[in-house]
Amino acid sequence: MTQEIRHHLTDAILMAYSAGSLNEAFSLMVASHVSLCDECRARLAAFDALGGALLDEPPSGVALAEDSYAATLARIAARPPEPSPEAAPAPRRTPGVLPGPLQDYVGGDLDQIRWRPVGMGVRQAILRTAPGATARLLFIPAGAAMPDHGHRGTEMTMVLQGAFSDEDDHFARGDVEIADEHLHHTPVADISEDCICLAVTDAPLRFNSLLPRLVQPFLRI
Ligand code: ZN
Ligand code: ZN
Repeated sequence: MTQEIRHHLTDAILMAYSAGSLNEAFSLMVASHVSLCDECRARLAAFDALGGALLDEPPSGVALAEDSYAATLARIAARPPEPSPEAAPAPRRTPGVLPGPLQDYVGGDLDQIRWRPVGMGVRQAILRTAPGATARLLFIPAGAAMPDHGHRGTEMTMVLQGAFSDEDDHFARGDVEIADEHLHHTPVADISEDCICLAVTDAPLRFNSLLPRLVQPFLRI
């Protein structure tokens, strides 16, 4: 089944992933999207090849500063072993709703997720990743809305099942919405199916109404 993905990762994010400079939660997002998206996987392969070529052949006539070479080597050495794009140049088409890299975190597919209620029928499961950014799975019942909110940092949300809309656009399986401090939105799940998303954030969200603000510290959103 080919599905059309309309909302992709940016070059900046793919380059940062290729250089190994993304945090664990964001790396998980990239690995998950790339496992579903031929287009981003091809762009990532190009960045990986470019990075390798730069290391193999410093441009002639241009003196590559010794410390920048060392810094690049250090970046590559520091690259997290998992998830590694080289290890899986071909897509890991795992059966089920969760992409392969996510199944590794959860220990299986949807039946392995330990959901916690967030209110209004919304459930979440926070994944164990290094501090500095948070990765969570979100379950939004068909037709339900998330509390409207803004963002302090970057939030990336990828649809795994169902679909959602906000003020800007419509997002279906594989689509990634990238939100920053300029976007304020109220995601609403499509009525046809419960919506399950992977969401990663590097800063707490900014809620408008009081109740979400009060529970926010407990839910780590
Ligand atoms: Zn893509
Ligand atoms: Zn948001």
